Order: sequence, then C-alpha cells, then structure tokens
Amino acid sequence: MGERWAGSTRKARLPRDWHKIRLRILERDGYRCHVCGGPGADGVDHVIPGDDHSDANLKAIHHHVAPCHLRKTAADRPRVGRPPERHPGLI
Ligand SMILES: [Zn+2]
Repeated sequence: MGERWAGSTRKARLPRDWHKIRLRILERDGYRCHVCGGPGADGVDHVIPGDDHSDANLKAIHHHVAPCHLRKTAADRPRVGRPPERHPGLI
C-alpha cells in the first residue's frame, strides 16, 4: 500500500464499497438533489471535497441528468492555475 496518488488531489479516492454507500445516501436523501432541491438525483456529492466519505459529508446530487455536480465541483475548486478569462479584443 503506497501513497502513489499523493500529490494528485484532482480526483478524490473512493472507498471500495462506494457503490453501496452511494445507494444508501441516495435512498436516505430520497433521490433529491441537495444543490437544486429537485428529485431524481443520480449521484452523491462530497459536501466538503476530499476523502471524508462519512454519511454526514455525503449528499445526493444530480450528476449525469443535470449539471448540478459539475457546477458545484467547479465552485469548490480553488482558482489556481486557471487564469481569468480575457477578451483581448476588448482591452
Ligand atoms: Zn440538482
């Protein structure tokens, strides 16, 4: 067991029984997305991004069916290495 992924925080490591946890969270939350409040959530989100896979840190979210997860993940990510958008023609 080495920490081969050390340094790569882009993708959080998921536990082996993730599919079970995921289903449990989805059922707990009634498949209701915690971002937009709509039904039909098909994914589970880490409220605080990282390796905390406890129930308290997991909530149902729209993953494939709506961009809720993408939006939240983009908002969570610190803006490092991503220069602000510029429109040279407007300067
Ligand atoms: Zn949603």
